[in-house]
Amino acid sequence: MALSRAVKKELADRFGQRAVFDVPMAEHTSLRVGGPADALVMPADTRELIDLMRMLEQAGLPWMALGGGTNLLVRDKGIRGVVISLRQGFSDIATHEIRQDSVTVNAGAGTRLSALCRYAIAHHLAGMHVVAGIPGTVGGAILMNAGTAQGAIESVLAGIDVLYVPDQTTHLGREALTFAYRKLVWSAEVCGENGYPPLVLGGWFRLEPAGKRDLAAEFETLQARRWKTQPRGLSAGCVFQNPAAEMPAGQLIDRAGFKGFRIGDAQVSELHANFIINRNQATAADILRLMAMIREKVYQSCNVNLQPEIRIVGE
Ligand SMILES: Cc1cc2nc3c(=O)[nH]c(=O)nc-3n(C[C@H](O)[C@H](O)[C@H](O)COP(=O)(O)OP(=O)(O)OC[C@H]3O[C@@H](n4cnc5c(N)ncnc54)[C@H](O)[C@@H]3O)c2cc1C
Repeated sequence: MALSRAVKKELADRFGQRAVFDVPMAEHTSLRVGGPADALVMPADTRELIDLMRMLEQAGLPWMALGGGTNLLVRDKGIRGVVISLRQGFSDIATHEIRQDSVTVNAGAGTRLSALCRYAIAHHLAGMHVVAGIPGTVGGAILMNAGTAQGAIESVLAGIDVLYVPDQTTHLGREALTFAYRKLVWSAEVCGENGYPPLVLGGWFRLEPAGKRDLAAEFETLQARRWKTQPRGLSAGCVFQNPAAEMPAGQLIDRAGFKGFRIGDAQVSELHANFIINRNQATAADILRLMAMIREKVYQSCNVNLQPEIRIVGE
C-alpha cells in the first residue's frame, strides 16, 4: 500500500525538508540498486522520532530503519511505507565514564562507524580495530554485529539505547543482548510487548586506554590488508554468510566457477568471489538471479546451502 497524499502532506508539514518522497533507494545504498521508497524521513531528535512513530502507528503504516545502506539489497519496485534514517539527528559521539582501565564512549546510531573509529584513535582508545574499515553506521553495525577477522562489534559494546515503538525509550545492557554471526538476535525478552524489536538509537562502547600502541598505524595496516583482499566497486560487502570459519563462502563460490561470472551488470568479483559488484546499470533482479544461481550450484556441488548475509528488502 503506497502512502496517501494526505499522509505525504502531513509528513511534509511536520518534517519539512527532512521528509522526501519517491526517493530512489539506489541513491541510498552502496550497491546503487533499488526502486523508490514512498518516503524517507530523517528525524532531528528523539522527540521528532517519537512523533513520527506515533503517527505511523496510528495510521498503520509500514516502516523500516536505514543505516548507511551498505548491507542492503533493495528490490527494483522499491519500498512501500516510510524509510527512517537516523543519520541527521543521531550522530553525536561523546566520552563518559573514564576509569583507569576502561573508557565508555557513546555514539548515536546514525554516526558513521569510520567517524567512531577516528574518534577512538584521536582519544587513544583501543578496541575499535575489530570493525576497522567497515562502512556504514553505528546502528547498522550493531544490528549486523559487523566484524572482521579481528573480532566483532559485540566485543566492545557495553549496551544500546533503544526506542520501543512508538514512544518508550530505554537502555539495554550488554548482558541483555544476544549476538550471533553477523546479527543481533532479538530474543523474545528484549522484543516489545507486540513482539517487534526496537529501533536502535545509539551504542555505548567500552574501550581501553591504548598505552604505547600506535593505533593510527594499526588501522592503516588493517585498511591496507582490506584493499588487497576486497574489491573497490559498488557492492554490499559479502553477499553470503560463511557456513563455517574454515569454510568461507567465497571459496565455495570460487570453486563452483563463478569468479567473474556476470548477469547483466551484476558480476561476481574476480578478486573476492563473495562480493557481487554492480558494474554500472545492474538491477536488483540481476543480482537476485545471480545469487540464486550461485546458491543452486554451490548446493549441487558441495551440498552447502548458502544463506544471504545482505538484507534483501522491498518489492
Ligand atoms: C565494501 C564493503 C565492505 C564491507 N565489509 C564488511 C566487513 O568486513 N564486515 C562486516 O561485518 N560487514 C561488512 N560490510 C557490510 C556492511 O558494511 C555492514 O553490515 C554494516 O555494519 C552495515 O551498516 P549500515 O549502517 O550500512 O546498515 P544498513 O545496510 O543500512 O542496514 C543493515 C540492517 O540494519 C538495520 N538497521 C540499520 N540501522 C538501524 C537502527 N538504528 N535500528 C534498527 N535497525 C537498523 C536495517 O534495517 C537493516 O536491516 C561491507 C560492506 C561494503 C559495501
